[in-house]
Amino acid sequence: MTGARGERAAAERAAAERAAEVGSADLAATLARSVGVRARRDVPLARFTTMRVGGPADLLTSAHDASQLAALVRFARAARVPRLVIGRGSNLVVSDAGFRGLAILCRAEGGRVEGNRMIVEAGMPLARAATLAQKAGLTGLEFGLAIPGTVGGAVWANAGAHGSDIAAVLESARVLRVDDSEADESVETLGLAYRESRLKHPSAQWSADALAAPEPSAGGGSVDIVLEATFHLTPSDPAAIEARLDEIRRWRQQHQPLNRPSAGSVFRNPAGDSAGRLIDAAGLKGARVGGAIISEKHANFIVNDGTASAADIRRLADTVRTQVAGRFGVELVYEVQFVGDWSNWGQEER
Ligand SMILES: Cc1cc2nc3c(=O)[nH]c(=O)nc-3n(C[C@H](O)[C@H](O)[C@H](O)COP(=O)(O)OP(=O)(O)OC[C@H]3O[C@@H](n4cnc5c(N)ncnc54)[C@H](O)[C@@H]3O)c2cc1C
Repeated sequence: MTGARGERAAAERAAAERAAEVGSADLAATLARSVGVRARRDVPLARFTTMRVGGPADLLTSAHDASQLAALVRFARAARVPRLVIGRGSNLVVSDAGFRGLAILCRAEGGRVEGNRMIVEAGMPLARAATLAQKAGLTGLEFGLAIPGTVGGAVWANAGAHGSDIAAVLESARVLRVDDSEADESVETLGLAYRESRLKHPSAQWSADALAAPEPSAGGGSVDIVLEATFHLTPSDPAAIEARLDEIRRWRQQHQPLNRPSAGSVFRNPAGDSAGRLIDAAGLKGARVGGAIISEKHANFIVNDGTASAADIRRLADTVRTQVAGRFGVELVYEVQFVGDWSNWGQEER
């Protein structure tokens, strides 16, 4: 980083460091002054997730473009404040105790088409990216219609559906790295594999071993942040793409419990099998803890009947893991991510 941008970043860092010394009320004020965005205190996160559970974030703010997202993350790093970037919260279970730090809603939704490429900011909903591509007569992103998350969250997860995934269409992603530099990364350097990327492993240096033993992280999400993604797509007839989008829309309605809050598939599919089939075979469809229920329509979904706590969901999910391991010897791996403060979650009144 050079010139005016470098000087601005240095000034923001210095302001954040000073604010961190005097506490979070001042942190919000300094954030407003130096990055130009407002932050609210003690905001419940439930309504920013598709599961509709989760306690308050100490501070909540929004990024409206990629440079604001980068500035907010740099600010939090300089202030040594834990931060959680939230896309559409469609893969998250936020703890009932909430998140101690700065939660950043990613609402950077710009995008453009250049020839066969589509360049979109991290906060654009993937379904909208799929529709934009269709309108431009570009095929390849139709699967994104099935995924109610953002482009950034989809790169983080290597989200996929209907026989495709992000890795199949991503040319590069612009990433804000932990040392505050920005770089264009490829599918290979991002480590994209089945529902997997190096972004999911904040504490581990990326290695094949880290990817082989993925565990849910209970903290605040990725360290490196996706700012923007470039997809390489293929020209095709817009009417044929539209027909494929309609097909995907119908499939979702028929196969997924879309009428109730959920975070999509709770577990990854084990090699050669399906987590939903195993959960069904264990007789767990309809099983319930508090307001959390294993969906009758799709056994790998936990739905919220409107009264669930995050603890209900976690307890039910843990029960599923134990029972499937006991019955079939298969250790299911979480696809959803548990974030926030889970330190006392088992000790609350039931
Ligand atoms: C009904 C339903 C159906 C679903 N179907 C599918 C499916 O078919 N296939 C599939 O793969 N998934 C599916 N999902 C899961 C989910 O939509 C995807 O995992 C999606 O990619 C998450 O994106 P998000 O923006 O909501 O991320 P969030 O849930 O907000 O965040 C998830 C993680 O990504 C991180 N993150 C978010 N933005 C960024 C960024 N810019 N840079 C770095 N890290 C970031 C967050 O910090 C967090 O750690 C489904 C979910 C639901 C509710």
